[in-house]
Amino acid sequence: MSDAEAGTETTDSPANKEEAHAGLSKGSPNQTGYSSNGPATDWRTYFPYEQPRSAQVDGIENVIETASDRGYTLLEGACGTGKTLVALCGGIQLVRDPDSPYERLFCVTPVKQQLQAFEDDLRAINRALDDRENDSGNGSDNDSDIEPVSGLTLVGKADICSYTNTDRIDDRVIYGKCEDLREPVRRAARYADDGQRAVRELANDARLDSHNTNTNTTTQQPVATNDWTSPYARQFPETDQSDTSYCPFYAKYRAETFDEDDGGYTPEGMLTPDDLVAQASNAGLCPHAVMSDSLQNAEVLIGNYYHLFDPTTLAAMTGELIDDQTLVVCDEAHMLIPRVRDLLSDTLTRSTLSNAISEIENRVLEQDQPGVDRILRQTLAEEGVREDDLRSFIEFLHEAKFFLEEQAVDALDGEDSNWERTDMAELPDEIQHPLRSPTTPQPDRFSKWVADNGYTNILRDASHIGTAVTTALREASNRHSGFECAKTFSDTVGQVFGRWVECGHEQYFRSIELQQRANRDPSADLAWNKEYTAQFQMHNCLPATEIAGRLGEFGGGLLMSATLEPLDVYQRSVGLGQLEAEGRPIQELTYGLPFPNENRASFAVDLEKFTYKNRGGTDGRWRDPSQDALREHYAEVIQSVAKTTPGNVLVAMPSYAEGEWIASVLRQTGGIRKEILVDESSANEVTDELKDEFFAGGDKLLVTSLRGTLTEGVDYDGDRLAACVVCGVPITNINGPVPKAIKTAYEREFGQNNGFDYAFTVPAVRKARQALGRVIRGHDEVGVRVAADRRYASRHQWDDVREYLPQYEREDYTPVERTDLGGQLEAFWNES
Ligand code: SF4
Repeated sequence: MSDAEAGTETTDSPANKEEAHAGLSKGSPNQTGYSSNGPATDWRTYFPYEQPRSAQVDGIENVIETASDRGYTLLEGACGTGKTLVALCGGIQLVRDPDSPYERLFCVTPVKQQLQAFEDDLRAINRALDDRENDSGNGSDNDSDIEPVSGLTLVGKADICSYTNTDRIDDRVIYGKCEDLREPVRRAARYADDGQRAVRELANDARLDSHNTNTNTTTQQPVATNDWTSPYARQFPETDQSDTSYCPFYAKYRAETFDEDDGGYTPEGMLTPDDLVAQASNAGLCPHAVMSDSLQNAEVLIGNYYHLFDPTTLAAMTGELIDDQTLVVCDEAHMLIPRVRDLLSDTLTRSTLSNAISEIENRVLEQDQPGVDRILRQTLAEEGVREDDLRSFIEFLHEAKFFLEEQAVDALDGEDSNWERTDMAELPDEIQHPLRSPTTPQPDRFSKWVADNGYTNILRDASHIGTAVTTALREASNRHSGFECAKTFSDTVGQVFGRWVECGHEQYFRSIELQQRANRDPSADLAWNKEYTAQFQMHNCLPATEIAGRLGEFGGGLLMSATLEPLDVYQRSVGLGQLEAEGRPIQELTYGLPFPNENRASFAVDLEKFTYKNRGGTDGRWRDPSQDALREHYAEVIQSVAKTTPGNVLVAMPSYAEGEWIASVLRQTGGIRKEILVDESSANEVTDELKDEFFAGGDKLLVTSLRGTLTEGVDYDGDRLAACVVCGVPITNINGPVPKAIKTAYEREFGQNNGFDYAFTVPAVRKARQALGRVIRGHDEVGVRVAADRRYASRHQWDDVREYLPQYEREDYTPVERTDLGGQLEAFWNES
């Protein structure tokens, strides 16, 4: 049984039975009569299995109590705790309680498998409600008339568009192509005398059963898959007036939602992306538009971290959900910091800068289309932007671009002063050129250049000016039938420069980054630009303030993972002290493995630590004897596990190169009667094939890197994995300018003693624990977990990490000498 299914089932598993009440209706819950505003219900009403586990009861009740006081619960729950149901049952009770301020539960996870776990558990909840209703006949039982819980999964356009699902539009170009196809519909709605009728006609004209012989639709195949058939032809229809392609799915959606107060759509039951694509496409509606329209009406939303932290996604879709009526659940919360760090880092490429310059110069300042120039001037004036401001802004953008180009040349000079005469393919794929010392937070060279050249005020106004230009261009497109504007660049440039001046130098590190082109561009105007692209880059080093700020906007929530410990470190790293200082409670909960102790053996092997300094490189020619000896000891440990384990073994090394090394050693020394598979840095499809091969039967040993994708978020349940060995503590390479800047930011925030551990050691231990956690996934599973490195076994030296294991794992992982490991493993398997 997987973690997501924890609890005793009373109903068929999700895969075996049809979803109850999954569907979509027009109108808000109150308009459709499908409303959750019934009497208050206890969470047990929604628990879909016979008996919750004690950790689930404790977890749910704590989550409800803490969230009722606007607080946050931090929950580490080992596999089998049933965390997904803790989140759903606790959250649904609060959402359905008329006295609670919560209107919706918003669950976000960065792992696709967990997203499906939320969907599966919500379906199980609705099936159990449905079964109870059926069992109780006409509703004599109180629970019998409980409505199904409405749920909706949020995905991007590429996943849900009717055309990408039928390969009519390539996933990679969907955003631009979709805007092109929507624009003629928007214009028809805007400019026709009867906009609603005009867009309805666009939809009707594209129907295969249309009598409009001009479009020749009758000879066409429909846009369809095996699961659904739309009413439209595969060929994009074109408008009568301008022969411009448009999207009929969007046209019908616009016709049906012309009245903006119609309440949108409401999911009935758990509506997955597949359900939604099928239902909307069958009805001839754009699935993505319907999804966006349903957000406010769903009780449970399931999404990813983008939906909470990516500024573009927030502006386009989820911003309105972020308020104190929403209870938020961050699943796999140990990944929150690195993911948010990425989402809050900004990039501004030279080509975006060039496009913004050309947009302002040619489309705004030099605009001579009658009527358009007037609308632009009028809108800019309303936004408080004068022509002089625009001209100053343009001058600044030209100079900023010149600054970027100079820095690009400096960066290349730093790699090879003779770069113009050498083969540039020999240079690194990526060159990072810091604009300040990573270890001394101080204003960067670009900021100083701005001040020295009198551009400080313009940089401060950049965001406002960029937005005003975009607003003016959109306004002209809205009001003037001869002017189109599907995409703009000025707002992007303005936002990045605005953040450049706003964000502090302690938490953000600025650099210029060069990336080698996949193919040389001979048409580029500068020598270096034929081989490289260049961009301004602003890296977020420590996102604690931003994470806590965003969490503070919700009513309350739950942050959960199987590897969140140590919770006090986590709490400080995500800035929850800010919320506590505002009087909002923070609750910490930890639940260990609920499975029988006798089914597992866990060892921390007391070996000299497996660091690069101690082990040397993988090429034996450059190693000294002590490094060879260390490698032999680790190889011995892995051989012991491989030889004694009756089943599959996963070996997790600090890098792919180390994986190749150990695989070649195991093959050379022989004695292991298992097929050896080696994972490498490769495309997802290749990794999936390797995984399938590992699972295909027959004992195998799979070597991978702890930086890869096979040690987290992959379900090795049942007999797919009998043992896992982790070698070393996988602390990331800290030599580049960005890691150094991160280390500095953490040391300044959390002190010299804690900074490095908070930034690097604790996340590395969580990574190792994730890999080791792949072994025991169910009550009947038997297996071995081996953490090889002295730092897991000891608590006496300054760099030991045993203190970062939760108490229940310190009790589990027995320190053992290398020479004793084989005997202990044999004894365990003999008794199992
Ligand atoms: S409007 Fe909807 S169906 Fe049409 S291209 Fe865009 S996402 Fe796809």
